[in-house]
Amino acid sequence: MCEPGNFPSNSIMPVSMLQGSTLFVVSTPIGNLNDISLRAIEVLKAVQVIAAEDTRQTQKLLNHYGITTRLSAFHDFSDQSAAQRLIRRLNNGDSVALVSDAGTPLISDPGYGLVAAARRGGLAVIPIPGPSAFVAALSVAGLPTDRFSFEGFLPAKAGPRDKRLAALITEQRTMVFYEARHRIKPMLQACISHFESSRQVFVGRELTKRFEQHYRGTLKSALSWLAEDEKHSKGEFVVVIAGGHESAWQEARMRKAEEQVAELRKEMSMKKAVAFISAFLGLSKNELYRRVLEQDR
Ligand code: SAM
Repeated sequence: MCEPGNFPSNSIMPVSMLQGSTLFVVSTPIGNLNDISLRAIEVLKAVQVIAAEDTRQTQKLLNHYGITTRLSAFHDFSDQSAAQRLIRRLNNGDSVALVSDAGTPLISDPGYGLVAAARRGGLAVIPIPGPSAFVAALSVAGLPTDRFSFEGFLPAKAGPRDKRLAALITEQRTMVFYEARHRIKPMLQACISHFESSRQVFVGRELTKRFEQHYRGTLKSALSWLAEDEKHSKGEFVVVIAGGHESAWQEARMRKAEEQVAELRKEMSMKKAVAFISAFLGLSKNELYRRVLEQDR
């Protein structure tokens, strides 16, 4: 079986060393076709089949680099039969390269089931690292990178999205989100209603592409920037949001608690509502009571 240790680390893996029964997880460019590693090209040329999320998209990359390897569609996160077919090929001695439309497979892209099945079957799984939009954005955002949380896409529907954001109110690490053009404005709007509008944000648009743009400011000013010109909302986005300070999220929790007390007061006394919500959220009863009274004045 071929293991990573068998490959020389300081040179392109010679094709002759490409042993069979290996699943290569190959990163491809996120826009600029030059952002591909020499090793990725070698592997894509050498394997028996390239499993691609969208064969037409990958064909453009193959044409650019004169790669003639056969493509096979592997587009669905839950495509069991396609995964089984590829595992059979691997077991029969073929090597397979898994690619997605852009960036690193499995990062908000298909492939997890295939990699897990290959691992379960004791097959070699080798990464061919390269671009990923979240790493590119994080590396230039100017926000702390010592610890971060990759959040991928938020749910499209408001209810589940708010639930996810509510769970992030206490997040102190930098957060990285992916977002599509038609949801970038509502996404930032939702972030403002959960985090402080002054929270620092980086918006990376069309990274590595012709119309690449970076916006760095607060959540509120980022929303104004998007509204300024409709071109600003076009393309693909990575949104990097600074983590909260403890005092900020304590304040956010208190504000949420006040809202919940206001709801409950429709059905019970203020004292009971405060006691219930403070116990439920683990907040100081006296502090919540004081704030609710202040609001009533
Ligand atoms: N596997 C990919 C990776 O490693 O980055 C991500 C695939 S995910 C389906 C696609 C999302 O990644 C886009 O909606 C966008 O949020 C982000 N993305 C991909 N390419 C990008 C680019 N060039 N600029 C900004 N965001 C990008």
